[in-house]
Amino acid sequence: MSQPVLTATKSEQAFAKAEKVIAGGVNSPVRACKSVGATPIFIDRADGPYLHDIDGKSYIDYVGSWGPMILGHSHPRVLEALEHAIQHGTSYGAPSIGEVDLAELVCRLVPSMEMVRMVCSGTEACMSAIRLARAYTKRKMVIKFDGCYHGHADSFLVRAGSGLATLGIASSPGVPEEISKLTLSLPYNDLEAVKKAFEKFPQEIACIIVEPIVGNSGLILPKEGYLAGLRELATKYGALLILDEVMTGFRVSAGGAQKLYNITPDLTCLGKIIGGGLPVGAYGGRKEIMEMIAPLGPVYQAGTLAGNPLSMAAGLAQLKSLSPSGTYEKLEFLTKRLADGLIACQSKTKVPFQVVSVCGMISVFFTDKPVVDLESAMTSNTERFGKFWRKMIDSGTYWPPSQFESAFISLVHSNRDIDETISAFEQAVSQLD
Ligand SMILES: *Cc1c(COP(=O)(O)O)cnc(C)c1O
Repeated sequence: MSQPVLTATKSEQAFAKAEKVIAGGVNSPVRACKSVGATPIFIDRADGPYLHDIDGKSYIDYVGSWGPMILGHSHPRVLEALEHAIQHGTSYGAPSIGEVDLAELVCRLVPSMEMVRMVCSGTEACMSAIRLARAYTKRKMVIKFDGCYHGHADSFLVRAGSGLATLGIASSPGVPEEISKLTLSLPYNDLEAVKKAFEKFPQEIACIIVEPIVGNSGLILPKEGYLAGLRELATKYGALLILDEVMTGFRVSAGGAQKLYNITPDLTCLGKIIGGGLPVGAYGGRKEIMEMIAPLGPVYQAGTLAGNPLSMAAGLAQLKSLSPSGTYEKLEFLTKRLADGLIACQSKTKVPFQVVSVCGMISVFFTDKPVVDLESAMTSNTERFGKFWRKMIDSGTYWPPSQFESAFISLVHSNRDIDETISAFEQAVSQLD
């Protein structure tokens, strides 16, 4: 910023240094905080629901590393598992028991996943899943939905929500038109649009890939019957249904959104929570489809660090810690407490806003329109959101720095943390115009 270097915060100084050697100063675009008119806050450490920055300021965290930290930061069981694992080395490039243990647990908790493959990111999981769907169906086209994000593989960068919506980018240069043309991006929550696409290309569509609950345009819930309708259409036209549960897996319920809505996909993508904060992704589904992957079949997919022992250990410890009964009821209770508190603040301001929530996730959109798809999300006043965000930061609340990202609640946010956030929110929105 314009301050002289001597009065700059440590974060500002670090960002100035970072900008010289890292493109944009960050390793993932939304972290740059551009759309909220701020420079990034550099984090020194995190514990429980709190982040501590390098200037010594602390925040109640609602980003949770964008989803993985459902148990809060530095959870003792996760750290202990990592400490144990690291004594055995960091990577082998040969099988280890942790991979099997995590695969078994994932397949048990998500019954539609009869077999699974571990990869290193959600991007890789989604990219591999559509390759497999194309191979299995011998078709080329993919249906996705406006505002859904499935990682940054070429086929997905068509109206892809969050990072791109934040920066006002519709699609990405560098993706050949020949590839974009194979991706049909349709409005979310609109079954008729999907029906029309299948009628137009009955033999060409390999799969529908969807975030069953959209978290990457801000939070958007599926209308009643929407997901069941997608399942029905995919089956009718011989296409596969891929649920991208990288964000919702083990967050909205122990079995993800597919359990919540009782939908059986052909393939599922996972990531975030299953790595306990380490790099991870996974995709899996029906055995006969998964058996097409090399070395059993001809579909190639590999990874030097896939099934990394540290990621497996952290993920396994995190999933096991989520298993006691009452876990998701507690998360739902905390989410509802926050959502109800925020909704009640509407009487304190003339500025209209929408609150959308589901177990462990919440969004506030500064619009007077109900948000059901990307188009309605885009009616939000992003300048107002930026002001709101900066006020929240000043009060020690680290809300996602984008109108088009969901916020995440962890199991260690206390009632007091939530109530403090509601007060901060009330103050912030009452000062908006
Ligand atoms: C985060 C996310 C991805 C991408 O995962 P990365 O690990 O960032 O590559 C894919 N799909 C959804 C729904 C996500 O939320």
